Amino acid sequence: MRFVSKRAAFPPLGLLTVAAMLPKSWNLRLVDMDVTRLRDADLRWADYVMVSAMIVHKQSIEEEVIPRCQRMGRTIIGGGPLFTTGHEEFAGKVHAVLGECEEIIADVIHDMETGHLEDTYQSGRGFPDVTNTPVPRWDLVRMRHYATMSIQFSRGCPFDCEFCDITVMNGRKSRNKTPDQMLIELDALVAAGWKGTVFFVDDNFIGNKRQVKEFLRALVQWRARRKPQIDFITEASVNLADDKELLALMVPAGFRSVFLGIETPVPESLKECQKVQNTHGDLAEMVRTIQRGGLQVMGGFIVGFDHDPREIFQLQFDFIQKTGIAVAMVGLLTALPKTRLYQRLLGEGRLDAASTGNNTEGVLNFHPKLDREFLINGYARLMRSLYEPATYYQRVLTFLAEYRPHGPRLRLTLGDLRAFGKSLWIMGVLHRGRLAFWKYLATVLVRHPRKLPPAIALAIHGFHYRMVAKGL
Ligand code: SF4
Repeated sequence: MRFVSKRAAFPPLGLLTVAAMLPKSWNLRLVDMDVTRLRDADLRWADYVMVSAMIVHKQSIEEEVIPRCQRMGRTIIGGGPLFTTGHEEFAGKVHAVLGECEEIIADVIHDMETGHLEDTYQSGRGFPDVTNTPVPRWDLVRMRHYATMSIQFSRGCPFDCEFCDITVMNGRKSRNKTPDQMLIELDALVAAGWKGTVFFVDDNFIGNKRQVKEFLRALVQWRARRKPQIDFITEASVNLADDKELLALMVPAGFRSVFLGIETPVPESLKECQKVQNTHGDLAEMVRTIQRGGLQVMGGFIVGFDHDPREIFQLQFDFIQKTGIAVAMVGLLTALPKTRLYQRLLGEGRLDAASTGNNTEGVLNFHPKLDREFLINGYARLMRSLYEPATYYQRVLTFLAEYRPHGPRLRLTLGDLRAFGKSLWIMGVLHRGRLAFWKYLATVLVRHPRKLPPAIALAIHGFHYRMVAKGL
């Protein structure tokens, strides 16, 4: 964030969406603890404190938010993954709204107004239709603090990977907003003054290919009409590579980059976690197809499956290097509450701790088949070697050679030029790896001069992950 002078990557889209469902007459104040401190004055001002949290926020909720609210006598209403999958731990302290709130928010509002809240709220009618979900209240955040804005087209994913809690929370049917609804949301973002990247935070953007194509066609026309200074990134499954039409629509619609759950190059481990969509072809070739199609690929990888051989670290390293997946988010397998993996390990007597929600801190919450120390140390070594400057830059060059960018281009801003200047100073002068950086920059200028902006952005990403790996 210090390269781009921002405080956080993304705004809290869940809270902004819930805020839009609350009565217009209520006064709302949003405190994003990623960008600002929670002040006593905020708590004193509030009648109720509505909190949204993921599992990784548990410590902050337990040690800061709940005690401070209790001291000031404030009632807390909690939602999001932390409470949806683990509300029992907060019984008596937090009134929990489980799952998506579209169909139960009216009851919550009624009970807040009358002062008689239930312990928990949960829709009895399954997963809600998102075509009535309102436009998020962008006015409640200061956009300048964020590197990226977030938006959502769909919820749910048709696949059923064993370790995934998304299908537990959002179901296996992709529920999409309508194209018109999305264009209204995008118009609102543009009207609020946003320029830059917008992240479609969907569980799997291509979960319903027919509907997503319909939306993308509308998005291409909207872009031609409005000429917005925004581009998009999102998350999808690797079967994106099988659909040339979809790929060919995403790029002109403004998609620049896609995060794919690749997980592992070991076929037995993919079968073990039932990641069936990754077993139908040559994974490396699928990645290259998407890169050639004009999208950068970010990849999620996991080590710690029962079928991982002892050479797993080298296998992961080789796969990531040869496919040029610059941003490779490698984590240790984690058993998240209520997932099928959690149930299986519980049944096998192999669970030994609750997940912290942080899969890069080098901690396992179950007994692995490989030796625990071997796995944790190998993981830390893998991360460090992946983000060694020379190795990393080599990987980005592999990607740049494959990458065919042809989507809309955003104008460079003063912020981009400042980030470029900072990157030269920090990576080219202050830090270890400066020689590799200058060599990389020279190679980019000679071989891929038109790809300089993504090359610099990727150098900055690499620096970030090097810092993460250093802490392991
Ligand atoms: S494809 Fe991704 S979102 Fe869908 S079930 Fe698998 S891990 Fe979860």
